Amino acid sequence: MMMMKVRRYLRGSGRVLAFVFAASVVWLLFDMAALRISLNDASSQLLKERSMRERARTREPRPARQGFLHPLQKVVGADGAPSRRAPPRVAEVYRHGAGAAGKGEQVRTLDEKRRGRPEKVPSENQGGDGAKRSTPGAVKVDPREAKLERSGPIERAASLQTKKPPAAQEETQEPKREVAKAKAVLQTPGEVKGKAQGVTKEGRLLANQTHPLKTTSDPSNKDVRGKEEVQVQVELPKLKETLRPAVVRPAVRHNATAPKKEASLHKVLALDVTVAPRDPAAVGQFGQAAFVSSKEDAEVRKRWDEGYFNVYLSDKIPIDRALPDTRPDTCAQALVHDDLPSTSVIFCFVDEVWSTLLRSVHSVLNRSPPHLIKEIILVDDFSTKEYLKEQLDTYMSQFPKVRIIRLKERQGLIRARLAGAAAATGEVLTFLDSHVECNVGWLEPLLERIYTDRRKVPCPVIEVISDKDMSYMLVDNFQRGVFKWPLVFSWSPIPDEYIKKHNVAVSDPIRCPVMAGGLFSIDRKYFYELGAYDPGLDVWGGENMEISFKIWMCGGEIEIIPCSRVGHIFRGQNPYKFPKDRQKTVERNLARVAEVWLDEYKELFYSHGYHHLLDKSLIDIGNLTVQTELRKKLKCKSFKWYLDNVYPDMKAPLVIAEGLIFNLGTRKCLALQKDSLVFEKCDLNKQSQHFNFTWMRHVRQQDSCIAPDNMGKGFSLRPCDNAKAELRWFHKSSNTALAEHLVAEYVSNHMCLEAGPQAKSLRLSTCEPSNAFQKWQFTHYHA
Ligand code: UDP
Ligand code: MN
Repeated sequence: MMMMKVRRYLRGSGRVLAFVFAASVVWLLFDMAALRISLNDASSQLLKERSMRERARTREPRPARQGFLHPLQKVVGADGAPSRRAPPRVAEVYRHGAGAAGKGEQVRTLDEKRRGRPEKVPSENQGGDGAKRSTPGAVKVDPREAKLERSGPIERAASLQTKKPPAAQEETQEPKREVAKAKAVLQTPGEVKGKAQGVTKEGRLLANQTHPLKTTSDPSNKDVRGKEEVQVQVELPKLKETLRPAVVRPAVRHNATAPKKEASLHKVLALDVTVAPRDPAAVGQFGQAAFVSSKEDAEVRKRWDEGYFNVYLSDKIPIDRALPDTRPDTCAQALVHDDLPSTSVIFCFVDEVWSTLLRSVHSVLNRSPPHLIKEIILVDDFSTKEYLKEQLDTYMSQFPKVRIIRLKERQGLIRARLAGAAAATGEVLTFLDSHVECNVGWLEPLLERIYTDRRKVPCPVIEVISDKDMSYMLVDNFQRGVFKWPLVFSWSPIPDEYIKKHNVAVSDPIRCPVMAGGLFSIDRKYFYELGAYDPGLDVWGGENMEISFKIWMCGGEIEIIPCSRVGHIFRGQNPYKFPKDRQKTVERNLARVAEVWLDEYKELFYSHGYHHLLDKSLIDIGNLTVQTELRKKLKCKSFKWYLDNVYPDMKAPLVIAEGLIFNLGTRKCLALQKDSLVFEKCDLNKQSQHFNFTWMRHVRQQDSCIAPDNMGKGFSLRPCDNAKAELRWFHKSSNTALAEHLVAEYVSNHMCLEAGPQAKSLRLSTCEPSNAFQKWQFTHYHA
């Protein structure tokens, strides 16, 4: 009777559809909520609050400390060049008293660390690379304090009272399918199969966690991931008008291949899937510093060289450990499009440590919306370690999206990436180093930038995973990647005045003159339109300069996206062999970049310690035709344009000095008259008196350079030639007693240019610091 009534009721009015729809909405909400972060939500908020407070405390002029060096760690690479991505050293010690004290460093005890006492720090910029990035503050938390409440799926479902606006129906169909697929991927792994059931039963994928220690009274510490947020994944169309996206400003898709219907938006997903409940007491959990007892010290040392970081410790840390959510507050509210392009994530590695490689891959699998990950490509650059062969194949076979490409011989990072890109099928390529941890919400903000303009090349903020204690550390806001001469990568904050004037918010994308290199996303087709990387670059180094100049000069843009954060282990040395000498490899790469992209500014590159690269008999930088043709074909702008428009705070005068050359003894000026040098009364209007002192250290007028003659007595005017060392002069190159002299570099005993007493002659004489006839002044000095 009852059933009859129900049936009639349903049949009579087409309510079946409504019922099915309502059911699917509830299922969808449930489904999405289930995928939302678990323990991480609450704990990371707490961690963030703590770290913010700690940062605020230590904000005052905070010089970077000299880094604690592992006894076996060397300061810089063999060529004296520090890792291009290295921030100043972090002085975290992995164990109380470990070795640093002898270096005059303040070593904090474990207890002090727990109390979050501000660290005492000596002076800035000890890192050796001139990087201005200030020392990141470690996020610290006591695992034992982190007792987390859990709420199971039932409670979560009950809290999801959201009614999806009718208009959202269509848009949410797609995500639903994807989420279901994602769950399948994440739960199938062989190793975890047995446990997979528990995912829902035990409520491992938790939302709405609250931490017992979390303070909610302070409005600035408000929980940005409260209940409301669980709704965001479905409440799309209505919000579009009312919520201003914090970072990602929805824009019309640029250069889209097909006209798109107006796409809808959702708040960035903060997924963090785990296959088993996280153990709050696990080593390194929540990105906190981990320590080993002194008994294990020998083991730490023994394993250090496997990756030039604390490999021993890394192996103890869960491969899916939680991290503090270090994004600026507004990021969780940022809107992104529902139809973002998918990406292929490419990890190249050579002899990477097992645990860090796995942690890198898991961080992508666990913290990315599955439908946006087309595939994960691991490119094995001819590793020698046995565990990276069959064992890796077997392990990765649980993840259908992971593919492994094995290179038949060592190609180096650059060509390995090209191999990965060639195999990729996603619309976007995302390159990552093989020792990273992607943080929550890392991917969508990157893809959103490409969605709005395919010529944008977004990079996440690279946070620091300590090589000593594996802690995840915040970095300062407003940092850009730049270069210093001779093409050395460095971090530099956006000037304060600029931030004020343009009202820059912490979550705004930052224009970035040079990318650090390891981590970025790029539209796949655009990558190839740009000619990808110069395949003539070897092993490691310079490729970040190459692609940065190419992007900017040929119409693209590089941005750092503060809402996207990825931790990276910076280490003091490359843990792999360079097939050829490291220094020679890197400088050869840089010379290729300079020759193709720097125009007349390449002199600045060579003059900063790379003169020897100009001698083609000593070094072969290979054929550049393809690269120079490409630059022509793409109609790329000049390097001067790049400096003026992208990196205007870089002072790069084309000459060191220019104008008249005034002799202090004769009080007359040098002039060029019919191929010979004479003295004249100084006259700025006379072009014959104008000379340049160039970065090649030439004294030059047009194409003529002043050179001592063969015997080192007289002078000749010779065609300028950058490769010829005998045309070079030292002048003002130091503040020694001979600063104002023109010292011939390639004459024995360093002879000085001297005016004869009546200003009738010019000769080389033994240098005398106080001799006014040997002192010369140019009208303008630029450097
Ligand atoms: N890499 C590679 N082949 C090489 C050198 C490096 O595949 O010949 C990989 C390496 O394993 C890492 C990435 O390229 O995943 C970047 O190298 P590394 O981390 O040493 O650079 P850094 O971060 O120090 O700049
Ligand atoms: Mn790296």
